[in-house]
Amino acid sequence: MQRIADLIGAEADRADQAALEHGDELEKSGAVQLVRFSPPLVTAEVDEGAACVEFRIVDGVLRWHCTCRDGRSGLFCAHCVATARSVRVRTGKKGSPDVRPQAAPTGTFPIAS
Ligand SMILES: [Zn+2]
Repeated sequence: MQRIADLIGAEADRADQAALEHGDELEKSGAVQLVRFSPPLVTAEVDEGAACVEFRIVDGVLRWHCTCRDGRSGLFCAHCVATARSVRVRTGKKGSPDVRPQAAPTGTFPIAS
């Protein structure tokens, strides 16, 4: 199950510098919504559905696709990078998958007395 995440991460490490920076920003701003995470298929919507990213393992090889212009031409675009970051967070090996960024807390606040 870890394998697709590793492959995606390795591919992201080779991405274009501009895509990496933009992708990091997208991920940090919470723009990535993982739609499906069931290896060998991962799909995500990025930037409120502006781009749809798909990762898939075909014959042991990672394939990716994004609906943006760069993605359609086969580049590992910023949306792919953002999704890769999100997958890495989701499958983080640091043992605490439920740690969320501090931005936008939702729900449970203790009621102060
Ligand atoms: Zn894209």
